[in-house]
Amino acid sequence: MNRDETIPNTVLMVDDDPTVRLLAQGVLPGQGLMVEVAADGERGVVEFERLRPDIVLLDVDLPGMDGFETCRRIRALPGGADVPVVMITGMDDFESIERAYEAGATDFSSKPINWTLLAHRIRYIIRSSTILCQLKQSQARLAQAQRIARLGYWSWDPLSDAVDCSAEACVVLGLEAGTDPANLNELLSHVLPEQGEELRRALRRTAEEGGALDLECRLKAPTGKRRIVQFRVEARAPGERPDGSVTGTVQDVTKRHQAEAKIRRLAYYDTLTGLPNRALFNELLGRAIHAARRHGRHLSVLCIDLDNFKRINDGLGHSAGDALVKTVAKRLKESVRRADAVGRVASGVELARLGGDEFTVLITDLDKPEDAGRVARRILGEVSRPLTLEGREVSMTASIGIATFPGDGDSVEELLKNADTAMYHVKKRGKNAYQFYSETMNAKALYRLTLETELRKAVENDEFEVHFQPLVDVRGGRVVAAEALLRWHSPTLGQVSPAEFIPAAEESSLILPIGHWVLRAACTQALAWQRPGAAPVRVCVNLSSLQLESPDLVERVRDTLQETGLDPSLLELEITETTMMRDVEHNIGTLLELRKLGITFSVDDFGTGYSSLSYLKRLPIDTVKIDRSFVRGLEQQQEDDTAIVSAIIALGHSMGLHIVAEGVETVGQLEFLARAGCDRVQGYLLGRPMPASAFTALLQEWRPARWAHLSSGTADTPAGRGAHGVDAGPTAF
Ligand code: C2E
Ligand code: MG
Ligand code: MG
Repeated sequence: MNRDETIPNTVLMVDDDPTVRLLAQGVLPGQGLMVEVAADGERGVVEFERLRPDIVLLDVDLPGMDGFETCRRIRALPGGADVPVVMITGMDDFESIERAYEAGATDFSSKPINWTLLAHRIRYIIRSSTILCQLKQSQARLAQAQRIARLGYWSWDPLSDAVDCSAEACVVLGLEAGTDPANLNELLSHVLPEQGEELRRALRRTAEEGGALDLECRLKAPTGKRRIVQFRVEARAPGERPDGSVTGTVQDVTKRHQAEAKIRRLAYYDTLTGLPNRALFNELLGRAIHAARRHGRHLSVLCIDLDNFKRINDGLGHSAGDALVKTVAKRLKESVRRADAVGRVASGVELARLGGDEFTVLITDLDKPEDAGRVARRILGEVSRPLTLEGREVSMTASIGIATFPGDGDSVEELLKNADTAMYHVKKRGKNAYQFYSETMNAKALYRLTLETELRKAVENDEFEVHFQPLVDVRGGRVVAAEALLRWHSPTLGQVSPAEFIPAAEESSLILPIGHWVLRAACTQALAWQRPGAAPVRVCVNLSSLQLESPDLVERVRDTLQETGLDPSLLELEITETTMMRDVEHNIGTLLELRKLGITFSVDDFGTGYSSLSYLKRLPIDTVKIDRSFVRGLEQQQEDDTAIVSAIIALGHSMGLHIVAEGVETVGQLEFLARAGCDRVQGYLLGRPMPASAFTALLQEWRPARWAHLSSGTADTPAGRGAHGVDAGPTAF
């Protein structure tokens, strides 16, 4: 159909009377209409299909197929239903008019034809039929849009209880197709009863007072499907509503709810294990704290971290790591479920995965905070059962820290932080255990932080000093070396022990500049002690693991030796056994490089690690320093210690190593060591660590003869031992 007003509309005139056809062709074009003609019904149908006219003028009395049948045929054609058909009847032929409408005619006109009037009528009919068509189309589009949006409209008259609704509203409300609900109850027949009641009440209120209504209800359709629908109404006050009824929409929002649930799942749950994630756990913990505060109850937070998980992840790959995390999650679920049901520890237990190998458990309604320990024990037992990963049997352990409300904190952050601190304590103490948080842990953490801040300043402010402790040759009784030991006097913390600040410096990497400074100071000092003609005094400098790993170590040592001018053979680097064994392959390379410079090495604190002497054979080592802890037992002739020390000396000698005993404090220890053939001794008996000037004096005052006498094992107790205060002056015998 032509809807463009600039193009003339086409009229198809079907009439057997040639005069009428001729008149139509003569008059109508002058009225802006295009005319096509057909002489009988058959031709008319064919022309209709060909031309798709905007209107058909159809004579009733046609030869052969009459006008009524022709009308029916046209109506049956595709697009034929929407084109207006005007039947031309005889004057007052009322029966024909009746039949014309039955056959689907739009209008009629009677003969004789008033052509001017007919032209006006044609234009009017075409215009209204166009509008009708547009209306139908927009209705169809609206219906389609409503179908797509699963949205229907409805209205309700509160006085008569009559309802009217769109087809889609019926579909959305689960009513059978074609049902025409008579009243509100029928319209809402599938809404779940209690919600239906609430909705009816709200609708009545809105109808009485006006206003808006937005309510979601659940439906149970006859198919059994559960859906969620949303009712929306905006009503004016009753007096202002033209027909008094309220109108609203109803929309199926099931999919939106499902999508929201999915988003919630993704935002609040861990995808690997399906456990609540950190965000949800924090929310749950927050609520639990609130409830516990109100009811005066305890709750505990357990922070669980797998031990050495990184090793599995790095060694067997991430998919094995994932599989492990899943298995552990399953075991944790099992153990907290049992903790709840069987142990009757608490009434609520929540488990979450915070990420990586970190899990948390929240136990609410605890009678006694100690009960959380039972859950922790059960978890440790479950986790450590062997499991198979990629065909290998793997054993896992975990470390658990526990913080309890209200004692250990009253906020989500504080409880989690303190449980975490307790967990780290377990890790430090050897893992595979649980530990309750205590305030001293925080104090320690705080002190460590202060230490680091102060250490940073100490480097810049020159607060360090190197002290020296003599190493004495057992056979000759001479001071043959000095161990450089770092001392720190902090203006804020006072004198701080190396046992405290060295680990802090290592953790913060500050040990690198500090260690370098010590090396330079020690070398400079050692050079000053050398006297022509006198026996040389070596200097022993402790090297931290970080220094050993640092790529520029060799270069730095070489530069320091060059700059200070110390003979490299007078420098000995002490490396603890644990550091030495950490990455043997790498260390061998570094030590060989350093050795090329002419430097020697000793293994410090020997016996505290797990290495054997034979393992050390692979490393270019000259000296082994037996740890103080073994020497301590020599005094009481403790069997273990005497056996170990004798064995280390004998074995070390067989490998061509020199043996030094550390921490020699008594003559008894010294006598034993001398008899066992120990090469050198170091300890308070011979001299405490002392400032460089005191060490210079010691070198001058030292009387080797007396000492040599003692080392033969026949001497009395050494006389004139030096003061025992920290870092005392020279000690002479
Ligand atoms: P270490 O290298 O094993 O040093 C020996 C430690 O034993 C020193 O403790 C020393 O004062 C102490 N000592 C010596 N003889 C006796 C004794 O007869 N009885 C007792 N009870 N103790 C004795 P200090 O000076 O407190 O140093 C502790 C540790 O700190 C050192 O152990 C060393 O590992 C580290 N350290 C010290 N200075 C440095 C340094 O400049 N760099 C690095 N990396 N570490 C250092
Ligand atoms: Mg040392
Ligand atoms: Mg040592």
